[in-house]
Amino acid sequence: MGLIDDRFDKNIFITSLDFVFNWARRSSLWWLQFGLACCAIEMISASMSRFDLAERFGMLYRASPRQADMMFIAGTVTKKMAPIVRTLYDQMPEPKWVISMGSCANVGGPYDTYAVLQGVDQVIPVDIYVPGCPPTPEALYYGVLELQNRVIKYETMAKKQGVDAAESQRRADRAEAMAAQV
Ligand code: SF4
Repeated sequence: MGLIDDRFDKNIFITSLDFVFNWARRSSLWWLQFGLACCAIEMISASMSRFDLAERFGMLYRASPRQADMMFIAGTVTKKMAPIVRTLYDQMPEPKWVISMGSCANVGGPYDTYAVLQGVDQVIPVDIYVPGCPPTPEALYYGVLELQNRVIKYETMAKKQGVDAAESQRRADRAEAMAAQV
């Protein structure tokens, strides 16, 4: 142990678990492999070698919502597709975030028709809206950076509602899980 004796005296820092978890979450957002229309082509372009969205932010496409903690809504959300978008969102584990990409996902875009949802926030909560038709990869980058600023401030339930509330929620979750096993 002689090599590390007295080497760390000046290198100790104190932080919170929330910050460490959020730092890890922010630096490895894995997004659901999912696209709805032409905006998805721009999203794919942003993730390819020229713009390298995935590599720069530690991001990865995941083919299952259960392995994803982020979702780009890239394209026109039709009313037929809206319940499927909601189901995919529900299947993602907490905590999870949504970026609405492009005018169609934000507000229906040019399609003010009976068949198109006038904004994906009618079915799922949205964290960041990226405007444009389609947004450029640079705009999408900006949206991801804004989302990272949001993720680093994410507060656990214990911080928001108190330790007792978190504990009773944990107990309720455990009881529900045990009841499901019976
Ligand atoms: S916003 Fe424009 S580019 Fe994006 S899905 Fe709608 S029509 Fe296509």
